[in-house]
Amino acid sequence: MEEGAIIKNDLKKAPKTGDWGYLKPEVDPAKCIGCETCVRFCPDACIEMKKRAAEEKEVSQENFREKELAHVDLEFCKGCGVCAEVCPVKAISMKK
Ligand code: SF4
Ligand code: SF4
Repeated sequence: MEEGAIIKNDLKKAPKTGDWGYLKPEVDPAKCIGCETCVRFCPDACIEMKKRAAEEKEVSQENFREKELAHVDLEFCKGCGVCAEVCPVKAISMKK
């Protein structure tokens, strides 16, 4: 492999690791500032930034309403908690 190459994750071919975890991440739209840090650190590449739904916008901080919100695909999330650790505003909590 070329040094420094980026390995792209194809979720369609990835094993479904969603039932491995004991805890599942929950993103709080009131706290998420849409910085995408969690997306870059997730080892399973299962976090995607998506447009905020009306009800998510309602609870979001005014300055971040138009920013995309982190969404976790729980079918592929193995519950490692890295996303919660790296989130700069502690918008992700690991729940049972
Ligand atoms: S808990 Fe781990 S696998 Fe699941 S979304 Fe967070 S970083 Fe990714
Ligand atoms: S790291 Fe935190 S603030 Fe940044 S997109 Fe992810 S959940 Fe939102």
